[in-house]
Amino acid sequence: MTVTLESAREAFRDQLLDAGLLVRTQVDGLYGRSGVFEDVVDGIDRVVVAAGADQGARRLRFPPVLPRTVFERTDYLASFPNLTGSVHTFVGNDKDHARLLSLHETGADWTAELVPSEVVLIPAACHQVYPTLTGTLPEGGEILDVYSYCFRHEPAADPARMQAFRMHEYVRVGTPDDALAHREMWIARGLDVLGTLGLPATPEVANDPFFGRAGRLLAHNQRDAALKIELVVHLYGEDEPGTAVVSANCHQDHFGTPFEIRTADGETAHSACVGFGMERIALALFRHHGLDVDAWPADVRSAMGL
Ligand code: ZN
Repeated sequence: MTVTLESAREAFRDQLLDAGLLVRTQVDGLYGRSGVFEDVVDGIDRVVVAAGADQGARRLRFPPVLPRTVFERTDYLASFPNLTGSVHTFVGNDKDHARLLSLHETGADWTAELVPSEVVLIPAACHQVYPTLTGTLPEGGEILDVYSYCFRHEPAADPARMQAFRMHEYVRVGTPDDALAHREMWIARGLDVLGTLGLPATPEVANDPFFGRAGRLLAHNQRDAALKIELVVHLYGEDEPGTAVVSANCHQDHFGTPFEIRTADGETAHSACVGFGMERIALALFRHHGLDVDAWPADVRSAMGL
């Protein structure tokens, strides 16, 4: 990454903080949102929901924590151990509690006194749905609409790399053809959504930062099979790398196998999802149309219901 890009990102973050759109915390990548920022996210969501209105998707909402047993059935720990968020808690007795407090009071490390709870923070909204589909799908498979805060531990000054952010997804679970068709259709619809918002975007084959030596092979396979396509918007000029604001993924049987999901024909189900990165789209809007929402193009405001 160039020094120019890094400083451009920091300057944009400072503008967002100074305008009060984001609220600083003591941790990089963790922000409060203003009312205006939330209005923008809701406006984006209206455009997304309109694009998916004909899907007949089953709407499901989950809290942003996932049973640890579900997390263990995905390969997230193999692919992105460094992004994991595990929830720990205290289960000791009075004596243990006294030790915990004394460590805390003396400024020593008290966290080693905690133990893992039965939940982890959710890294992607769609991970909640697969365990609910174990068994045989109805004829025609399933389309689900999920929307959740997600967590990925990657502290950064770049405002587009938040640790906690929202993802609105349409998830297809069915035959290989169903999954592929969903992915292809949503690349086009994702571009339409961004076009409606006045954001020029291009589809690119994704290059996920899989962890470690084994990760290089995973990254290679992902690129070769073009399993994940990202819709990229440039926030800092055409010469700098763009920001992925929507991703359209074909998982093949990546979830169907571990979660034992079968199609009505008895085959292992394939899945695909499109995820709209709500904060990233909001940031792209502020970057392209300015920090004053009232001055945004009238057609964009009208499509968003603002
Ligand atoms: Zn997903």
